[in-house]
Amino acid sequence: MTGQALYRRAKQLIPGGTQLLSKRPELFLPERWPAYAARARGVEVVDLDGRTYVDMSTMGVGACILGYGDPDVDAAVKDAVDRGVMCTLNAPEEVELAEVLCALHPWAQMVRYVRSGGEALSAAVRIARAHTRRDRVAFCGYHGWTDWYLAANLGESDALDGHLLPGLAPAGVPRGLAGTALPFHYNRIEELEAIVEEHRHELAAIVMEPCRGEAPAPGFLEGVRSLASESGAVLVFDEVTTGFRVTTGGIHLTLGIEPDLAVFAKALANGYPMAAVIGREDVMQAAQSTFMSSTNWTERVGPAAALATIAKHRREGVAARLAEIGGLVSDGWRRAGDRSGLEVRTHGLPSLAHFDIGHDDEVVLTTLFTQLMLERGFLASNQFKPSFAHRPEHVGRYLEAVEEVFPILADAAERGDAASMLDGPPAQRGFYRLA
Ligand code: PMP
Repeated sequence: MTGQALYRRAKQLIPGGTQLLSKRPELFLPERWPAYAARARGVEVVDLDGRTYVDMSTMGVGACILGYGDPDVDAAVKDAVDRGVMCTLNAPEEVELAEVLCALHPWAQMVRYVRSGGEALSAAVRIARAHTRRDRVAFCGYHGWTDWYLAANLGESDALDGHLLPGLAPAGVPRGLAGTALPFHYNRIEELEAIVEEHRHELAAIVMEPCRGEAPAPGFLEGVRSLASESGAVLVFDEVTTGFRVTTGGIHLTLGIEPDLAVFAKALANGYPMAAVIGREDVMQAAQSTFMSSTNWTERVGPAAALATIAKHRREGVAARLAEIGGLVSDGWRRAGDRSGLEVRTHGLPSLAHFDIGHDDEVVLTTLFTQLMLERGFLASNQFKPSFAHRPEHVGRYLEAVEEVFPILADAAERGDAASMLDGPPAQRGFYRLA
């Protein structure tokens, strides 16, 4: 358990242990999750003890859409390294990538780059505020770690902090930002209408994922679009997770609604740091009326990796493969659930699928699932993000293991002794402070 030993040391050196909440071992299998990868290729991950697993969980939290170490993307990156990653002059790949992103999204004419999703959302909100000269932002869903978003959890007094986004603590976010980030729920147009009604002349942006777990209700996105247009707020689609999952480009291309800005990260460059804000020229030009500038936004690897990722995505029909593989897995979960008597409910698009278990002991049972699947050679949780490197053979082997494990969970659920079968504590859910 070299990985767990290293992780214990990490918690003394790195506050929170990891840089991303979703990579905390405690969220999967406390005290047992391998924690660190020595290397990863295709869909296989080797841990620090030399054990190999097939990744049937999140594939780098959704970033590695083509698989780990994709040969075409890595060849483009190696070429970028050979030609020099950082230089006094700029990387021409930036311009080529802007042409490609605007051609994929014909409503957009301009592009700015940063290197992570949360940073890209901050840039989009800054551009929207600069363009409208207004402060408030209506949003639904998760949009990263930065101040504009966490401001939603600032109450009028400390006692109210944390009431909107459970678990995301706003300590360190200036109290002066209270009231600037106003949440609404997906598919509840009346909530957004109420925000627009109250703040019609103060609303800079409406920020949301166009679609994720739930399909848009008829007329919902159209309603959002017209509220944005009529109030003058900039409509920002967050495609950090949904981008490139359903088509080459943003999922909004399949939904028939055009935003004013859209934000891409994660799958854009198959795991290399890269993110983009694309948008309508009149809005994007506002990036010049404020100050947005950073040394590492100019390096060559990100745009080179993005160009190679997009080219392969289109050439190989990656979106169709993701739908096929994700569909096989979701169907398999349902079938194995039915056979075992475990109440397994599947959710989400095939390319962003997850399941839950209808039982009071759900967290313990899901932890036990991860433990038993790890013993069978799989990194697995209740989420699966397919990649182009997954083949039906991987799914077949995985579902054989699921067919073995679900009946064990069903028996444990029935007896009520699932916790005693765990080698460690149950998984943690959501945000919490590490001791
Ligand atoms: N927006 C959405 C919809 C996301 O899913 C995420 C990441 N999970 C982010 C923003 C933040 O991106 P990053 O982790 O790259 O900062």
